[in-house]
Amino acid sequence: MKGRLVGILLLLGITLGYAQTDVSLPTGVRKLMRAYPNFVQGYADGKVRFSDGSEMTYDDGREKSYEERMNTADLEDMFSIPYDTSVWKPSYLYDPGRARCESFFRKMYGNSSNEVQSHLVRVDWFGQKILFTAVNGAADSLKAVAAELSRLPKSYMKYFSGASTFYWRKVRGMDRLSAHSYGIAIDINVKYSNFWLWSNPGKSEKDQIVYKNRIPREIVEIFERHGFISGTRWYHYDTMHFEFRPELLVE
Ligand SMILES: [Zn+2]
Repeated sequence: MKGRLVGILLLLGITLGYAQTDVSLPTGVRKLMRAYPNFVQGYADGKVRFSDGSEMTYDDGREKSYEERMNTADLEDMFSIPYDTSVWKPSYLYDPGRARCESFFRKMYGNSSNEVQSHLVRVDWFGQKILFTAVNGAADSLKAVAAELSRLPKSYMKYFSGASTFYWRKVRGMDRLSAHSYGIAIDINVKYSNFWLWSNPGKSEKDQIVYKNRIPREIVEIFERHGFISGTRWYHYDTMHFEFRPELLVE
């Protein structure tokens, strides 16, 4: 009898657990749990629960303009524009993943330059040794990217030299922390890259601009296979920029 009761409770637990992970959760929460299993472990009452027991509001409920979303993104805002790998030339204000919930990234990767640096490891990158965070398997993913890129034809290798990664700084021209601050971003060779603000000095983010990119799509797709998003996909193009954001690429 006791055994049967335990069995029923176990089944109930599994069913409820399944329901929580796959049916009743907001899509973004499910993606965060898949992408960051060591940190994001549950969801209740509108809050994401972390492995250390702390919580974070998923959706602050505010209607935001494009600029407000960029400057004060909550977790939900990070998913407001789906990262669509079939789009090659982005339309007006299509910037998937460019909005980041700063408190979330500070929590995972470090709340200060020193804290982030304590998690950085060296990765071999086309003759360079570059620093990348070991948190969430980001450095291992970058190693896998390098291995795959190195199998491209020799003519592609020029794109990878002079790479830069960790730097605790604000986004160029903006007042928000760059993904480079967390050790999750790499800029490949600036010489073959385009950045929207360099081509349009003085323009604001709401202005119309002409898209530019010289980075081949094969390179972008290799990064994406390993959980990196690409600044070539953004209306506010930053074509040298790749950023470890598996939550935008998981199913
Ligand atoms: Zn960058």
